[in-house]
Amino acid sequence: MDLSKFSPKQLLEIDACTRCGECLRFCPIYSQKGEEGINPRGKIQAIKKFIRAQYGLLAKLFGPRKLSEEDLKKFSEMVYRCTLCGECGLQCPVSIDSRSLWLGLKEVLVDLGHYPQELESMKRNVLKDHNISRQDNAQRMDWLESIAGLPDHRYHKERAEVVYFIGCVAAYFPMAHKIPQSFVRILERTGVDFTLLGGEEWCCGFPLIGAGFRKEAQELIRHNIEGVKAKGARSIIFSCPSCYHTWHEDYHTDLKLFDSTQFILNLIREGKIQFEEKKIRVTYHDPCDLGRASGIYEAPRAILRSMPGVEFIELANHGERCKCCGGGGLLEMIDPELSAALAREKIKEIQATGAELVITSCQQCVRTILSTARRMKIPLKTSYITELVLKHMR
Ligand code: SF4
Ligand code: SF4
Repeated sequence: MDLSKFSPKQLLEIDACTRCGECLRFCPIYSQKGEEGINPRGKIQAIKKFIRAQYGLLAKLFGPRKLSEEDLKKFSEMVYRCTLCGECGLQCPVSIDSRSLWLGLKEVLVDLGHYPQELESMKRNVLKDHNISRQDNAQRMDWLESIAGLPDHRYHKERAEVVYFIGCVAAYFPMAHKIPQSFVRILERTGVDFTLLGGEEWCCGFPLIGAGFRKEAQELIRHNIEGVKAKGARSIIFSCPSCYHTWHEDYHTDLKLFDSTQFILNLIREGKIQFEEKKIRVTYHDPCDLGRASGIYEAPRAILRSMPGVEFIELANHGERCKCCGGGGLLEMIDPELSAALAREKIKEIQATGAELVITSCQQCVRTILSTARRMKIPLKTSYITELVLKHMR
């Protein structure tokens, strides 16, 4: 096991786990599977065991013990069944940053050759096609076609102050096309000087980093930074929280980064967006990568509160305690049934609010909740926040 994948802080964190079990109460995967090895405490104890076998006192005296293939296989199955929701880290009394720990651990497992093979083909496709959909990257802007009165520049300018970075899910999954379609309309109507990158936008790299292929993501990162700089832009807006978070953590750039909710809230405060009164009862689902990972809880709520006629009801678990919808951490690719089980729990919680519509600010959450509701034949309405804003704009 290559310990260099862990920072000194992470090695201290692994050692610091007191086995108190506080994290067990919050892990959505553990609540479904109930196995000790799958919960955060169990995974940390397994890493400790592996480290002892290779670097402990007995290993120093008698030589390191080889990790058995069977143990590693079982461990990998546990590690990859995680949505990276970050609830365990937030609730841990000794503040173990477990989300980062799980990412480092996946890099270790990739080096050892123990990772789900679905991820190997995903990696090959992302590096070849530059998107997660195995489609031609030039088709990334196909969602534009159904916009009535599309301007001649098709939102694709040589230079602009702001770049709107779409993300693979909104670009390629028809269920999420309304997200960029509504957002470009908002930006246009409020006079924002923005451009899209078109086929020059590549996957942000999150699927690779989330799978343990961090070094392979560097090529995508370099390309995207150069693409944005070539436009002379100083800011980027994201409607995908995973892209936003990845740019924040892994891009190391001086560009200003905005999530769509932060950008819209600024437009409202500048008086560039005003709303008509329209009555509707809504609830809001906090995406893990926007809330717990990026700390953005207030901007979407402030938008909803500024809309006359919108009655906003919180989910039973909201803000820092919001439960993952099941769409995070590539779980859908690895264990679709487990991902759907989490989505079903989320749908029950949404239904309990009595809201007519669930709003969220993540393309993957929209997709996960909506597709599970359709499979369950539940007529649940889900909207990305930009769709609601556009519908209510004066
Ligand atoms: S809450 Fe933190 S210290 Fe307690 S068992 Fe979980 S990871 Fe270990
Ligand atoms: S990140 Fe979420 S799913 Fe993964 S171990 Fe922690 S609580 Fe469980």
